Amino acid sequence: MRTGDGWALSGSKTFITQGSVGEIYVILASTAPELKQKGLTAFIVERGTPGFRTGRKIEKMGLHASDTTELVLEDVRVPDEQRLGEINQGFFDTLKILDKGRIGIGAWAVGIGRAAFEAALKYSKERVQFGKPIAEFQAIAHMLADMATELDAARLLVWRGAWMQDQKMRTTRESSVAKYYAARATMRACNSAIQIHGGYGYTREFDVERYLRDAKLAEIGEGTNEVQKMVIARELLKDWSERVGGAEVPRTSA
Ligand SMILES: Cc1cc2nc3c(=O)[nH]c(=O)nc-3n(C[C@H](O)[C@H](O)[C@H](O)COP(=O)(O)OP(=O)(O)OC[C@H]3O[C@@H](n4cnc5c(N)ncnc54)[C@H](O)[C@@H]3O)c2cc1C
Repeated sequence: MRTGDGWALSGSKTFITQGSVGEIYVILASTAPELKQKGLTAFIVERGTPGFRTGRKIEKMGLHASDTTELVLEDVRVPDEQRLGEINQGFFDTLKILDKGRIGIGAWAVGIGRAAFEAALKYSKERVQFGKPIAEFQAIAHMLADMATELDAARLLVWRGAWMQDQKMRTTRESSVAKYYAARATMRACNSAIQIHGGYGYTREFDVERYLRDAKLAEIGEGTNEVQKMVIARELLKDWSERVGGAEVPRTSA
């Protein structure tokens, strides 16, 4: 809400990464509720500002090293100088940030998948059953082949998106493709890594069960798989409709 020389912010937001340890926060607040998500404005709020506090800590299935909490704002007063960007442009600015962030989540997912793959490869060469290392069973070798193939593809999609970002190209579709594919490839790789470890895979004695619990966030955070598919489809149809009439749309933009 607008005050004389600034803004008064009230509300709460769940699922904030590093919510209890951050010092400076970017808050997206509704400044024109009738415009729904198109009426959001971003503000910088510092820890210690009256009315601003960390809410409950959220226990998660994985990523235990990362803090996740609620944030609570009760009539938090901020001057207009702490507004970040234009009024009611917060949603659009956030979408641009997500184009970058999703490539980061894709890279993070590839990293967990790689750890799972390397653990599975090592274990399959060491574990002997029926007189030979389990890597010699075709069923196990094929699982390793699938993991390596899908993780390679995921890595290349992430590199494509990152390279395009470096060239200042618009990557809305490529970022979602990379994140969506990498998240799925990693979940499949982690699941196979547990399978290859047999009973030990289901225990806390090996890291592969943790990889699976950590990797799951890649299918949810910064937009779920379902939301990525929505974005990809929207971009595909937008390209198609923009091309009607013969004008090819360059994929570069500011
Ligand atoms: C560990 C963790 C850390 C996080 N950190 C942050 C953070 O720092 N800052 C922040 O702002 N957020 C953060 N989040 C929030 C995160 O971005 C959201 O949880 C995520 O985007 C999903 O939104 P949601 O939880 O509201 O799910 P919902 O939107 O309620 O979705 C529930 C289900 O419905 C589906 N669904 C929803 N809408 C559609 C649709 N239109 N079409 C088809 N299916 C749909 C979803 O795919 C999902 O399967 C974090 C979440 C977690 C778990």
